[in-house]
Amino acid sequence: MRLSRYFLPVLKENPAEAQIVSHRYMLRAGMIKQQAAGIYSWLPLGFRVLKRIEEIVHQEQIRAGHIPLLMPTLQPADLWRESGRYDDYGQEMLRIKDRQDRDMLYGPTNEEMITDIFRAHVNSYKDLPLTLYHIQWKFRDEMRPRFGVMRGREFLMKDGYNFDVDRDAALHAYNRHMVSYLRTYERMGLTAIPMRAASGPIGGDNTHEFLVLAQTGESEVFYDDRVTGLKLGERDIDYDNRAEVAKVCEEFTTLYARTDETHDPAVFDQVPEAHRKVGRGIEVGQIFYFGTKYSESMGAEVTTADGGKVPVEMGSHGIGVSRLLGAIIEASHDDKGIIWPEGVTPFPVGIVNLKQGDAAADAACAGLEKALLAKGLEPLYDDRDERAGAKFATMDLIGLPWRITVGPRGLEKGIVELTSRRTGVSEELSTEAAVDRIAQIYAAHR
Ligand code: ATP
Ligand code: MG
Repeated sequence: MRLSRYFLPVLKENPAEAQIVSHRYMLRAGMIKQQAAGIYSWLPLGFRVLKRIEEIVHQEQIRAGHIPLLMPTLQPADLWRESGRYDDYGQEMLRIKDRQDRDMLYGPTNEEMITDIFRAHVNSYKDLPLTLYHIQWKFRDEMRPRFGVMRGREFLMKDGYNFDVDRDAALHAYNRHMVSYLRTYERMGLTAIPMRAASGPIGGDNTHEFLVLAQTGESEVFYDDRVTGLKLGERDIDYDNRAEVAKVCEEFTTLYARTDETHDPAVFDQVPEAHRKVGRGIEVGQIFYFGTKYSESMGAEVTTADGGKVPVEMGSHGIGVSRLLGAIIEASHDDKGIIWPEGVTPFPVGIVNLKQGDAAADAACAGLEKALLAKGLEPLYDDRDERAGAKFATMDLIGLPWRITVGPRGLEKGIVELTSRRTGVSEELSTEAAVDRIAQIYAAHR
């Protein structure tokens, strides 16, 4: 992509309405535009990151054996009357009437609808286990939409629902979600800590939230700081192996890590003082096991191997896809702008031409662009007729993890400069070597 032809409306000044750094940088980097309180347009750069995050979520869900589908944003109220939540949900639910005066709503979540799909098509234990998920816009008429996409009213969520024949199988689904979520967040360059949580309006007893530590987080968290060192890494996990998956979950949930809702000071006091930390966190996901809460009220039953009939065991599992952009920026930025982790960056690398119009520099940049594209790595090439300082400032603000700087003087020596946004360290390389380095770096992130 050539910057001269792109749509990247960067702002020079700090927008007054943004209270936290991620909101500020998303506005300044031309990623989003507010259209109403808590409702945003995703401008091209923001949209690219959103799509990248979605792609990682899909890949990790599919790896865990979960199946994508797509349910609508608008739902009939009658489904929610069956479960009893139409009245319970309160003012967060956006209620709409269609022209026939039928009660509709913009879905805040999809337990009822997925249960309706299940009961229409599945009635035997032989069709289980089954986990269906989608990535779809939700609406919650939040009392205080704020912090940009962190607490929106319209927001993108991955929500998945497992259906199992008994409690053990449902707990395995719960564990599978925990591990797939850990892997998802790691690929985004995040440390998200599973913390025992309280369940709220979804119901049920077993639930964990995933929190990214950040001073601007809305939740108070209490933890043993050794949890921040746990990593899944490159481990190859067999998601069908119940014992293996349970063991990984145990590893990640044994150390103390709780939100204020479940915090137990007596237990916390037993954490060695040097590791006992109180901080703040951003909730980027939550998993629930709630058993038969919806299947009983909505009549979703399956036959069992011994010829009986039971309400199906369920859980639901959510990732805040749009909130993740804010969380990643909170966790990865400096005073010049965003620093995207390689896994989610909108473009893998930026090319800065120090002397637009110089025949050698222009040709070298075009050659780099072509060579990177041939390797499936689309660069953002700043081909504007601008001062070098302005080009660097834009690149730093939008946060591409790597930058290749091309100028006539370097080219005379046969070199370009490859710079890491994170460390600021530069190396001088031939154009071919620079392309190879970038390809090598991203091989681990595809
Ligand atoms: P919160 O406590 O932050 O209001 P929640 O517990 O009600 O969130 P869930 O129902 O667990 O939310 O939804 C799954 C995920 O969707 C959350 O973990 C969060 O990352 C994201 N999410 C929830 N509400 C919002 C919102 N208003 N804006 C953006 N993302 C949200
Ligand atoms: Mg939650």
